[in-house]
Amino acid sequence: MLEQVADESILNAFTLIPPPVCRLSMPRSSTMECKLCGSPSFRVSRLRVPDICQLVLLRYPVRCRTCYKREFVGFFTALRVRRENKVRHQEERRRRMRNASTARQI
Ligand SMILES: [Zn+2]
Repeated sequence: MLEQVADESILNAFTLIPPPVCRLSMPRSSTMECKLCGSPSFRVSRLRVPDICQLVLLRYPVRCRTCYKREFVGFFTALRVRRENKVRHQEERRRRMRNASTARQI
């Protein structure tokens, strides 16, 4: 049973790898969707010791922000997720600071 689950997870990891031709032709945003809930929103997940095998294959863990399912994606896709989250975090911080300054003026 455990071996079957492990085999399925390895198989799922490999099915997540898009063929090189598709990777080049895909648009930069909304390329990833959660397999469980279909959400396009992910964050980079923390590394665990068993992830080393996936890292060797240049795959990095990401976690769905909606259902918290953990998946492995290509290293560059994970980098893009991290960059997008960083930009979103900076925008939220700027908006919060702007709101705080307008509240002080009132
Ligand atoms: Zn999900």
